[in-house]
Amino acid sequence: MNLPREPEQLIIRPPTESQSLLIRVTRGCNWNRCKFCGIYTHFGQPDFEIRGMDEVKADILAAWELYGPDWRAAFLGDADPLIIQPDRMVEILRCLGETFPSVERVTCYARASTCWLRREHLADYRAAGLARVHIGLETGSDDLLRFHEKGVSRRALIGSGHAVREAGIELSHYVLLGLGGADRWEEHVAETLKVLNATEPEFVRFRRLWIFGSEDGPRCPLWDEVREGRFAPQGPEGTVLEMRAIIEGIAFPTQIEAIHGNVYVRLKGELPDARDRMLGKIDRFLARPADERRQRYERPSVI
Ligand code: SF4
Repeated sequence: MNLPREPEQLIIRPPTESQSLLIRVTRGCNWNRCKFCGIYTHFGQPDFEIRGMDEVKADILAAWELYGPDWRAAFLGDADPLIIQPDRMVEILRCLGETFPSVERVTCYARASTCWLRREHLADYRAAGLARVHIGLETGSDDLLRFHEKGVSRRALIGSGHAVREAGIELSHYVLLGLGGADRWEEHVAETLKVLNATEPEFVRFRRLWIFGSEDGPRCPLWDEVREGRFAPQGPEGTVLEMRAIIEGIAFPTQIEAIHGNVYVRLKGELPDARDRMLGKIDRFLARPADERRQRYERPSVI
């Protein structure tokens, strides 16, 4: 008997999609220029490719045969699958829904600029099953967005956020702690809060900037900016203070998640009810002896 082949694997997915069926629609990132990123290149996918419809559908069927029909959630990869032609996206979503009727939530990463480009199609995607998009907001500061070559403005972040929510799709915004560096962290916090409070995403998720690289090895473009003195990295405690200020400044009901392995204080809860609990946890951490805090900064995923 011939076993079905394994569906093609993704490179990354959000931590919250660890139990989701993973279907790869595109390979890599169609932008690939954010200075702090380089993730797809780093993991062997430097080029962006749109997979053929037949390939994607074959993967959906292979997943059914190999993993069974009982899935509650599915995640579409890689970085920005909504960039494909709208009729193709609807066809993939429908195929997924017909093959896996138990799937209640289909999600994907999306660039804000692509959501804006596809704003007239978002309601069709929702009707075909797309329930949530994970957008890397990173920062709300126009200057910082430009510096890091995010390829989107604050205005577009707000416009796309509204378009997503008006289509009935849940919005999950990722904030990148440390993106303002040591010098501009207050601007990073203040401008990010402006976008969050304007778009009111259902989820606000935190990750921390990781400037990876070495002199001779692979590196993200920001590594060179640091070496050449154009970007001064934020200290670890600064990222904790940034997260505290953002949680304090959010003025709408939302789910907060700081569960990524590189965030120093892990938090999960719903605002406004859990605000005091979460701020209290941060403050208790900040009140610990310096040695203990340093240990956490050296090995964030351990504690
Ligand atoms: S942060 Fe997102 S949009 Fe920017 S290069 Fe990385 S994957 Fe692409």
